[in-house]
Parts: sequence; structure tokens; C-alpha cells
Amino acid sequence: MSEEPCGICGGDRRIANSFGLTTTCPSCHGSGRRAEAHGFHDVTKTKESHHRQSNRAATVVKAQFPVTPAGIALATSVRDSTVCTAEVKARLIQEIMDHEDRHGLITKTFVKKVQQQIRPRA
Ligand SMILES: [Zn+2]
Repeated sequence: MSEEPCGICGGDRRIANSFGLTTTCPSCHGSGRRAEAHGFHDVTKTKESHHRQSNRAATVVKAQFPVTPAGIALATSVRDSTVCTAEVKARLIQEIMDHEDRHGLITKTFVKKVQQQIRPRA
């Protein structure tokens, strides 16, 4: 009874978001266990990581758009896509900027990955 799985991800620890990528479950933060059923000792951890995330967002003022030519071109095609919701677009553009941050450029593989998500499905 103490190991009740998380109700959001069902214990998988990761959930698929609306454009087919998986991400760490926001409910259990990757523990796979239902937080309220598993006691309070995890609460501090959860709070800490949440706090750290919002701190990072607040202190690092990020550009709202990619800066590399490939990133700008890709983000523009995301923005002009007719198949994505505004939420998905914002998320993809954020991913493009994150990708730039991490790699210093936009890889062809990443371009393809994003383009697949903004293309109308047949
Ligand atoms: Zn979960």
C-alpha cells in the first residue's frame, strides 16, 4: 500500500506531451509514486527543485527568439505553422532556443524533428 503509483503517469515517471515527446512527470517529479500517499518527506525535495526552476527562469533573462540563422528560420516556420496550437509553438520555440544554448547551433536532426511536428498530418 505504501507504493501507490502516481496518478498522472501511472508510475511510468514520464508522460507524453502533446507533440509526442516524453517529459518527466510534473506530478511525481520522476519518482513514479503518488506524492500525497507516500508521506511528506518528499515535499522538501519537490519544493526545492520547483524553486530552483523558477529561480533560473527569473534570473536568466532569455531571448524570446533563437539567435542563429538556422534557429531563426526554424522558429519562423514553427510560428507560421497552421497545425500547431500557440502553446505548442511557444514550447517548440523554447526548445529551439534551449537547443541553441546547449549545442551552439541547430543540428539538422533537430530541424527534422521539429519540422515533423509542424507539418500537417496526412
Ligand atoms: Zn507521475
